[in-house]
Amino acid sequence: MEALMSMEEALERMLGHFRALEAKDTPILETLGQVLAEDIYAAFDVPPMDNSAMDGYAVRASDTSGAAAEFPVSLDIIGQVAAGHLPEVGVEPGTAVRIMTGAPMPGGADTVVPFEDTDESQQRESMLTSERLSKIRVFKEPTAAANVRRSGDDVRQGALVLKAGTLIRPSEIGVMATLGLAAARVYRRPRVGILATGDELVEPGQPLGPGQIYDANSYSIASQVRQCGGEPVLLGIAKDNIDELLLKISTGLSTDFLITSAGVSTGEYDLVKDILTKHGWMDFWRVRMRPGKPIAFGSLKAGDGREIPHMGLPGNPVSSMIAFEQFARPAIMKMLGYKDTTRLVISAVLEQRVVNDDGRRFFARAIVSKRDGEYYARLTGPQGSNILTSMSRANGLIVIPEDVQAVNPGERVQVQVLAGSEDLLT
Ligand code: AMP
Ligand code: MG
Repeated sequence: MEALMSMEEALERMLGHFRALEAKDTPILETLGQVLAEDIYAAFDVPPMDNSAMDGYAVRASDTSGAAAEFPVSLDIIGQVAAGHLPEVGVEPGTAVRIMTGAPMPGGADTVVPFEDTDESQQRESMLTSERLSKIRVFKEPTAAANVRRSGDDVRQGALVLKAGTLIRPSEIGVMATLGLAAARVYRRPRVGILATGDELVEPGQPLGPGQIYDANSYSIASQVRQCGGEPVLLGIAKDNIDELLLKISTGLSTDFLITSAGVSTGEYDLVKDILTKHGWMDFWRVRMRPGKPIAFGSLKAGDGREIPHMGLPGNPVSSMIAFEQFARPAIMKMLGYKDTTRLVISAVLEQRVVNDDGRRFFARAIVSKRDGEYYARLTGPQGSNILTSMSRANGLIVIPEDVQAVNPGERVQVQVLAGSEDLLT
């Protein structure tokens, strides 16, 4: 039997050639999914000032003690303050300032009584909207300091708010904006060159001649690159001849990572392998997985002496996508500064028998659904590595270990959730 490399060994060898790229100051809105390369401290308290959490009346708690429906406390309204404005008066004993959510607390006040606990709406019923209330009755004793957000409640000045290494999600972008930061230092996104190879390939949008097929892989790979945070650079299609391949590959050497599709099996026209061996080096090309066995990894030398890591994905569209997920995705995430590149795996009950008889790790396209709090998985249909629509029907990949020959209905399997399919699982 031919010697196949284990997925673990292949992945370890490959990831050894990738590290986080340089850090770069980047507008916060562009950093979604990137990793912080700096600690972020608060330059000021958040919120920056004491402010109201409710629409209501800023009062002195001591004035309202004992207030109840049958014993209302009456206060003189001496002013009003909205968010974004400063109070013009302080609250003296026996007075109140009408205050809106987010408005700074007036001096002297320590508590906000919400409108609901006053006769504000009853008074309003018999008034024109332009009229001003002069007195307010409080029907309920507030707890002291109620409905006041103190400066620094969220973050204290000088505090470490976001640590280097933090993954940036929408909430982190909001936190950075709250701290007044327009840009943050993040590991830059890798530019990933993508080259399709094959005499049979035609760009979508062009007429299809006899014997030809459309290039699917450039587009699925580019989208996978983007999905995991890289910047795809489409290098087009190279015909199966050494000169064209070399030329197109050389245009990809300004990127951080070059991915080619097809040309890595043992066919007569499988030139990518030859080029890698001659113009760079090749580390492995037969991995114990299905689909996706013919995979190449190595590097090519750019004009400036840089070594550009190169991955040769299999030509069959499903193999190409699955091999990308298992190998290229973690490599890209490592360049982005991620420490953990493992995927979300769930446990599901298998609904049909799945056979795995060739000693490889089998990634079976699956439809996972949830019933009564339990996940169930079934195959999408025929598992030929050319059937890309069955990848499109899948929301997960059942992982059958190398040494398991068959799994029966009712048995549990591990399922990798496909990126972007999380919402299809419910
Ligand atoms: P190869 O690895 O070149 O032997 O290709 C294996 C299979 O994948 C063949 O059927 C090719 O036609 C197909 N294939 C190769 N590249 C692509 C591509 N970019 N898009 C769709 N199918 C492809
Ligand atoms: Mg080919």
